[in-house]
Amino acid sequence: ATPTALLVGTGRGAQLGILIKGPEVLESTRRVDTVVLDKTGTVTTGRMALIEVHAANGVEVADVLRFAGAVEYASEHPIARAIAEGAAARVGALPPVTGFGNIEGLGVRGIVDGRAVIAGRVTLLERSGARMPRTLDRIRQAAEQAGRTAVVVGWDGAVRGVLVVADTVKPTSAEAVRMLRDLGLTPVLLTGDNAAVAHSVAAQVGIDQVIPEVLPADKANVVRQLQAQDRVVAMVGDGVNDAAALAQADLGLAMGTGTDVAIEAADLTLVRGDLRAAADAIRLARRTLGTIK
Ligand code: ADP
Ligand code: MG
Repeated sequence: ATPTALLVGTGRGAQLGILIKGPEVLESTRRVDTVVLDKTGTVTTGRMALIEVHAANGVEVADVLRFAGAVEYASEHPIARAIAEGAAARVGALPPVTGFGNIEGLGVRGIVDGRAVIAGRVTLLERSGARMPRTLDRIRQAAEQAGRTAVVVGWDGAVRGVLVVADTVKPTSAEAVRMLRDLGLTPVLLTGDNAAVAHSVAAQVGIDQVIPEVLPADKANVVRQLQAQDRVVAMVGDGVNDAAALAQADLGLAMGTGTDVAIEAADLTLVRGDLRAAADAIRLARRTLGTIK
């Protein structure tokens, strides 16, 4: 490899909004055949908004907002921010939370007004021993089938409400998936979210292969399993929960709009958070190495 050609490659990369950690990155980029895409914050904007609030029988909607909002206020997750902001906008100041805990990829818990509150996926609530009321479960399923995320909230051992948050697909994601396919790559959608939401997002951007309900700690394992099938894997992600998978992948690409942890774990950073730059990066690497050979 001539240093000049590599410099041209990386300089062009900077123009395209791609930061490359080192020239050796280009070699693995060239061999990539599978691109694993994180959903939230990568394919979607990750900017969620609270759009619906439902209370169980005998429960005030304002209490669902207060308790869910208070416990989510302590979390940085995009879902949590949508709930805390949406709740504060509807009911005003939120009570403080103590004993806050984050259950990665599942939800949050904490003590609010002396009550033990849990908010997150239905499995998290059920694991705590709470039973999901029929009506609320129907609302949850309908929301998920519509491609939205339902957050179940409960306190003192019972499910008390469901909050629906919605995220939107980035306007450039469908074109980015087309560009990746044109390069002969197979796109795969990887998410901790449920299958209905994952398939809805995948359909909107043209991805066939979906791996949903993957806990943060297992994302790297999914990459490892694909590699065990002789695939050369690029992973694109933005979150703390993507860092291990980004490091495990043959090529890790971080969204520049994402967390520092993801950027540090990755080989490449897509500065503008535009997924099309992932295809640009792979095309650039192939071309640059073609020049060198
Ligand atoms: P992704 O893999 O798409 O980036 P995460 O792994 O961060 O998503 O989260 C997976 C799922 O866990 C979310 O879709 C949501 O259902 C649930 N979840 C995670 N964090 C929270 C939270 N703070 N409040 C409620 N639910 C949460
Ligand atoms: Mg993410």
